[in-house]
Amino acid sequence: MKILTINCGSSSIKYQLFDMADESVLAKGLLERLGTEQVSLCHQAKGAVVQPSCSAEDHRDGLGLILASLVHRDYGVIERIEQIKAVGHRVVHGGEEFSGAVRIDPKVIRAIENCAQLAPLHNRPNLAGITAAQMALGSAVQVAVFDTAFHSTLKKVAFIYALPYEWYEQYGIRRYGFHGTSHQYVAASAAEMLGRPLNELNLITAHLGNGCSITAIRRGKSVDHSMGLTPAEGLVMGTRGGDMDPAIVFHLAANSDMSLEQINEALQHRSGLLGISGLSNDMRDIVQAGEDGQERARLALEIFVHRLKKYIGAYMALLGEVDGLVFTGGIGENSAVVRSKAVANLERFGLRLDGKANEAVAQGQAKEISAADSEVKILVIPTNEELLIARQTLALVGS
Ligand code: AMP
Repeated sequence: MKILTINCGSSSIKYQLFDMADESVLAKGLLERLGTEQVSLCHQAKGAVVQPSCSAEDHRDGLGLILASLVHRDYGVIERIEQIKAVGHRVVHGGEEFSGAVRIDPKVIRAIENCAQLAPLHNRPNLAGITAAQMALGSAVQVAVFDTAFHSTLKKVAFIYALPYEWYEQYGIRRYGFHGTSHQYVAASAAEMLGRPLNELNLITAHLGNGCSITAIRRGKSVDHSMGLTPAEGLVMGTRGGDMDPAIVFHLAANSDMSLEQINEALQHRSGLLGISGLSNDMRDIVQAGEDGQERARLALEIFVHRLKKYIGAYMALLGEVDGLVFTGGIGENSAVVRSKAVANLERFGLRLDGKANEAVAQGQAKEISAADSEVKILVIPTNEELLIARQTLALVGS
């Protein structure tokens, strides 16, 4: 069974083609800058990387280019596109409608459209990808996998904001949570690594990438999470600042020459690591610049870790007992500095790092980095959202 996973951004399409017989990746790639003169496709297959010259106006053209690459005489991996039996689409916002993956039908499309009000930048491109795939791969089963679904187990005590309750009823203002596929994937992997059933484990999973979020998981279910109505809340991120006093927005609107739109742009794209350091949104640059003596880069790292640690402590208090803390995402998987700072001086709370193991994590490696006597296991687990999307798609194809 060949399954294609698709993750559409406003001007990009990320894809992977799986052979589900052994869950191997036959091909994967990224199409970027759709609708511009500089459209680029980076296609990896058969151990080689090709960058064919191309042009594409929209997601439909883009998917056409991807499918042409998959069946290409030289670097293709299948003979006919009909061999793709199902397509798994990443959809960011499923609102309160979806608690798991679903086969796409007109009703599901309408529900995704309704959720687009809550995440227009994400759901609209996701819908464009679905439409393009339905047209190009008419015989394949189309499945939607939602970032929010894993957090559908949050109780009101965790998802209702302390705001006028009618805002929840009238406008859907609540915590939804994101990165669910990643948190769910690493939680399941952690259970495998620890050799215990997931439904017996309490875990804290920290997804630290361009976007950063953290989840408290009780017996396999998400019970609290740092992102909220949108992916702007919670931890410090590359260009988003996470938690802040809402009064800041109104203070700036009244006292600066910025419009609300400009303030929002700064909150989304010029805050976080980039905003504090003035240098970069990339943790590698921040760590390097800090070591080179740049004070604001050092401050950005300290603020990033300070916030992360606060959430780890809060979720330990919420869960009561914690079996494992998992680091994932580009920063979580690769930055020994961030991991060691995040758990420094938490021995009295049951977290004891094995410094050498932490330094020795190889790229792409899943590894336990806690000391043998650490009550809470500390794990690094590379995330694989695409694989979970493919697995959930496969599970629905038969039904
Ligand atoms: P992701 O969104 O999960 O792909 O993560 C991307 C982020 O991971 C980049 O912006 C970097 O900040 C971070 N990253 C990748 N490699 C490293 C590394 N070796 N050390 C620190 N951060 C890294």
